[in-house]
Amino acid sequence: MFCFQCEQTAKGEGCTKLGVCGKQPDVAALQDLLIYATKGLSQVALAARKAGIKDAKVDRFTCEAIFSTLTNVDFDPQRFVTLIKEAARLRNDLKAKAEKAGAKIAAGGPVTFAPAADLKSLVAQGEAVGIPSAEKLNADIRSLRELLVYGIKGLAAYADHAAILGQEDDAIYQFIYEGMAATLNDALGVNDLVGLALKCGEVNLKAMALLDAGNTGAYGHPVPTAVPLGHKKGKAILVSGHDLKDLDMILQQTQGKGIYVYTHGEMLPTHGYPGLKKYAHFYGHYGTAWQNQAKEFAAFPGAIVMTTNCIQKPKESYQDNIFTTGLVGWPGVNHIATKDFKPAIDKALAMPGFTEDAPGKSVMVGFARNAVLGVADKVIAAVKSKAIRHFFLVGGCDGAKPGRDYYTELVEKIPQDCVVLTLACGKFRFFDKDLGNIGGIPRLLDIGQCNDAHSAIQIAVALAGAFNCGVNDLPLSMILSWYEQKACVILLSLLHLGIKNIRLGPSLPAFISPNVLDVLVKNFNIMPIGTADQDLKAILG
Ligand code: SF4
Ligand code: SF4
Repeated sequence: MFCFQCEQTAKGEGCTKLGVCGKQPDVAALQDLLIYATKGLSQVALAARKAGIKDAKVDRFTCEAIFSTLTNVDFDPQRFVTLIKEAARLRNDLKAKAEKAGAKIAAGGPVTFAPAADLKSLVAQGEAVGIPSAEKLNADIRSLRELLVYGIKGLAAYADHAAILGQEDDAIYQFIYEGMAATLNDALGVNDLVGLALKCGEVNLKAMALLDAGNTGAYGHPVPTAVPLGHKKGKAILVSGHDLKDLDMILQQTQGKGIYVYTHGEMLPTHGYPGLKKYAHFYGHYGTAWQNQAKEFAAFPGAIVMTTNCIQKPKESYQDNIFTTGLVGWPGVNHIATKDFKPAIDKALAMPGFTEDAPGKSVMVGFARNAVLGVADKVIAAVKSKAIRHFFLVGGCDGAKPGRDYYTELVEKIPQDCVVLTLACGKFRFFDKDLGNIGGIPRLLDIGQCNDAHSAIQIAVALAGAFNCGVNDLPLSMILSWYEQKACVILLSLLHLGIKNIRLGPSLPAFISPNVLDVLVKNFNIMPIGTADQDLKAILG
C-alpha cells in the first residue's frame, strides 16, 4: 500500500505497510480503486452533460463514494466492494444513455474497466492504479494531481453534508467531475493544475455556504451557549462526528426514554443551535477530540454513535457499545443504515449510564457569524480604541502528534489584549481555558466545526469591509492545524480568496513537492509554524 493523504502519514512520507490510522492494505487498495472508478464515472458524466444528460443519482453517489475515502471514515472492505461495483454500474448505465444521445466517449482506462469478481482480485486491481502507479510522472504534476484529488475529497464531504440537508448546487457536481477527469489528462501542466486546485477552493466556498444554509435553515443560527462538561445521573448516548441531522434524529428518538444525549469531538458546537438545544435531554459534552476516543469511549457508560468522520479502531471493551451510521464504517461494528437508532437506544438503556450527577465546568460555544456580527459595532469600537490589538484564528484539526502542543502554548501566550477565534477539533487543545473577556467580548470565540469555516470567512470579510481594507490588511493572523482532506480544501478556499501569511502545522503535507511548495510560498507566503514565542514575536513585534 501507499497512502500519504493525511498529516499523520508514516515518517512524514507515506504509509506503506499499514495506515497509522489503522487502514489495512486491502482497504487502501480498494479506496484507490474506488477513486479510479469515480474518475471514470466523472469522465462519462462530463460527456453525458455535454449531451444534455444529468443524473442526480450519479451526482450524489459520486460525492458519497469520494467522501468514503477520506481519512478515518470507512475501514470496511465489503462496503468498498459494493461502492466500486455500483460506480461501474452507474458509469455503464450513464454511458449507454449518453451514447444514445450522441456523446462520443473514448474507451479505455477507468471508463471501461470492469471490477473483478472477488475481493482478492479487486485488491490487485486497486494496487495497479494507486499512487505508486504514477511513479514515472513528473513529481510536481503528481503532487498537484494528488492535491486536487484531496481537495475534491474535502469538497465532496461538504457537498454531501449540505445535500443531506437539502442544499445542492449543480456547479459543485460539474466541478467535481471536471477536477477528477483532469487528474487523468496528461496535457495539463503545472499552471493548469494550480489553477484547478484554486478553483476547487473557490467551488468549496459554495459548498460551505450551502452547508451553512442547510444547518442554519434547519436549526437556526447558533447563539452563545454554556455547555456543561460534566454529566447527569442517568442513561446516556454519546454522539460524535459532524452530522447535525443524525444528532437531531437521535434526540427525537430518545425523547421521553430517560436517556441524556452528550456530544463528543466536533459535535460540541451543536449545543448552540436553537433547534437542537431545545431538547431538555440534550445535556452536555463529554471528552475531547477524535484521537482520544479509545480512552474516552472506554470510560463512557452508554452507547456511542459515530456520524461522518472520524472513527478509530474500537477497543474490545466498547466494541459492542459503538454504532456507525452514514458513510462511517468499521468491520464488525454495528452499522445503522436506516436512521432508526433503536439498536443504539436499546444498548444505552441496557448499560448502567452515569450513576450520579457531576456538574463539572462548562465551555461557551455558539459564536458563529450571526452572533459575532451581531456585536460587530462593539468589536469594531474595541479595535479602534486599541482595546483589541489583534485577532488570532487558531483553528483546524487535532491529531496525536506531540508537536500539536504548540497550539496550546500559543493560545496560553497570546497577550490579554488579543482575541482568539477558533473552529474545528483543534480547539480541544485549549477549549476549556478561561481566557476572560475584553470589555464584555470573550477572548475565546468558538465559531464551530470545521464545517463552519464559511462562518469564519464571513466574519473576516465583514471585518475587512468595516475597516475598508482587505482581509490581509486586518490585524488578523491565521494559524492553522491540518490533519485530513477537509482541511486541505479549506486551505485551498483561503488561498483562492488571496489570504496570505497563513501559518500551517504541525507539519507540511507529504504530498506537496518542493517546487509546488515554492509556488505556494512565493504567491501566498504560506509558512510552517515555528515555536509559539517566535511566531508571536513575528506577528505582534
Ligand atoms: S489516511 Fe493517513 S494514516 Fe491513514 S493510511 Fe493514509 S496517510 Fe496513512
Ligand atoms: S476537524 Fe477534521 S480531524 Fe477534526 S473531527 Fe473534523 S474532520 Fe476529523
